[in-house]
Amino acid sequence: MAENICTNLRTCPLVNKPLLPEEPERREVYLQTYCFPANNKYLECRRYIFKLKYGFCPDFLMPDSVMCEDEVLDRYEEM
Ligand code: SF4
Repeated sequence: MAENICTNLRTCPLVNKPLLPEEPERREVYLQTYCFPANNKYLECRRYIFKLKYGFCPDFLMPDSVMCEDEVLDRYEEM
């Protein structure tokens, strides 16, 4: 059902920018694990969670990243 699909699908850079992620072999894994299945897995995606809280998500943050929010924000501010 449509409501089980990530609401960021049309705009998320991971889906729409072919050069992401930094490890290109992980791209299809991310898409098939978090983005496209209608199984609510996107609710566990770090990109989804971060954007929900902060209103944006840096390109470098990947769905299964173990970086804490402070590390993400620090790295983003250094860019
Ligand atoms: S990477 Fe995460 S936020 Fe982006 S479309 Fe996939 S599930 Fe949604």
